[in-house]
Amino acid sequence: MLIGAIEAGGTKFVCGVGSREGEIIEHCSIPTSTPEETLEQVFAFFSKFTINALGVGTFGPADLNPASASYGNITTTPKVKWAGFPLLSTLQKELNVPAAFDTDVNAAALGELTWGAARGLDSCMYMTVGTGIGVGAVVDGKVLHGMNHPEMGHILVRRHPSDSFQGLCPYHGDCLEGLAAGPAIEKRWGKKGTELVDRLEVWELEADYIAQALVNYALIFGPKRMILGGGVMKQQQLFPLIREKFKIYMNGYLQNSFLDDLETYIVPPALNDFAGLKGSIALAVLASKVHSL
Ligand code: ADP
Ligand code: ZN
Repeated sequence: MLIGAIEAGGTKFVCGVGSREGEIIEHCSIPTSTPEETLEQVFAFFSKFTINALGVGTFGPADLNPASASYGNITTTPKVKWAGFPLLSTLQKELNVPAAFDTDVNAAALGELTWGAARGLDSCMYMTVGTGIGVGAVVDGKVLHGMNHPEMGHILVRRHPSDSFQGLCPYHGDCLEGLAAGPAIEKRWGKKGTELVDRLEVWELEADYIAQALVNYALIFGPKRMILGGGVMKQQQLFPLIREKFKIYMNGYLQNSFLDDLETYIVPPALNDFAGLKGSIALAVLASKVHSL
């Protein structure tokens, strides 16, 4: 049994085929241009294989409600050519296999839970801090959905008294993403994150906002592990700062053995470059168990 996986990102589409156990057999990376151009190359890759099911982890926002007429569509992305594009149905028409569809971060959370940093647990949260801030979660072994997928990157955080940066979110200004995604770091300090490595105040402020968010997530749905990835989290010095501030903001309110050792609670991803692909395979495997896909 061969499973197809697509990590559909704003910059690139990573396609792969693998086993139910998450072993990637072959993969390729395709730049994201127009839907037509990109998908032509996606189909060329998959034409070499016979797959039994497909898992898709996509950038968003996307419609994940199977009862909706626009299920499987990308919805309101600023990438105009993709706004409203029926990604899932276009893939299914060509590839003709049952498919599971979710966000890239929900897929990454499920992949990390199945084969990575949250292995053996039944809940976890995956946050990417990059061009935007995206957060996915698994609770009780299931990917977390409400009306639609969670949008935990846009939560409101308490502004640090020393920070007068107005924030970059086109909807909210100073939501978490507006204050703490990679472009906000660059705009606030006038340099890219990679050129600010030695500036402790940059990372203390960044850690403050991320820690506030993590405390909120812990209070709301209590993931048993928090996995932080994305370009900005390559600054490994953020991890101890985030743990320290998490402790201060939580101030002992939640008492739980999972929180006893924050070094094992707030961690980097374990699947690294294959998180998206493996996560997409995990989506297809989970769907096959639930719906005998
Ligand atoms: P994307 O979110 O588009 O998938 P990334 O996760 O690489 O891609 O995020 C890109 C953002 O992260 C940019 O704003 C970039 O400046 C920032 N970034 C990338 N690498 C690093 C790094 N090593 N240190 C700090 N910031 C980084
Ligand atoms: Zn926002």
